[in-house]
Amino acid sequence: MKTIGMIGGMSWESTAVYYRVANREVQRRVGGLHSAKILLWSFDFAEIQSLQEAGDWREAGRRMADAARRLVGGGAEFLVICCNTMHVLADAVEQGGGVPLLHIATPLGKEISRRRASRVGLLGTKYTMQADFLRAPLAREHGVEIIVPVEGDAEETHRVIYEELARGQFLESSRRALGEIVARLGERGAEGVVLGCTELPLLLKAEDAAIPLFDTAELHALAAVFMALN
Ligand code: GLU
Repeated sequence: MKTIGMIGGMSWESTAVYYRVANREVQRRVGGLHSAKILLWSFDFAEIQSLQEAGDWREAGRRMADAARRLVGGGAEFLVICCNTMHVLADAVEQGGGVPLLHIATPLGKEISRRRASRVGLLGTKYTMQADFLRAPLAREHGVEIIVPVEGDAEETHRVIYEELARGQFLESSRRALGEIVARLGERGAEGVVLGCTELPLLLKAEDAAIPLFDTAELHALAAVFMALN
């Protein structure tokens, strides 16, 4: 079994999910007392959020590359970034670590194809919804088109992530609001919606939507176990 290097703490609420899902999956697949071999670098999210807000992606990239180096120095054989947004800096992580990076778009694309969807909505931080790191590989490798919420809905999604979910607040009013945003994406032709922020599945569940929701945290953690065991 390979050792997984996790770059987490963005926020720790969802990193805890990666840790639990990966360990459960190893136990399910291998049995006995087996559990995942994991090295975790967990950032102080306040530091990362300040860099994001200031647009200082250069310094954020340095920190991500440094985390990758530390994990590989400690024995990590491949890396996962436990967060969608910071995949903006996937190249910096790969260069810093010098080992394979399991990109979050890889298991996501496979799952969307398995469900035979060709047009999906995307919910995430404003950085993720504006960036190309999900849109481009999904279009190129799976012919999947991504649509994003209209302006007010995009702002509300971003706000809920930073002001509530990353602080451990899970409000019924926000769950309902996000459910309505999903429904509006459905009305615009989305056959499913990517929960493209690893905290979103903590609030929004399958029963809150009439169309499939793609849980990037769970898919990514399961794919990490697959990679560790194969
Ligand atoms: N965990 C979130 C994501 O998957 C957002 C936190 C962040 O901006 O790093 O994008």
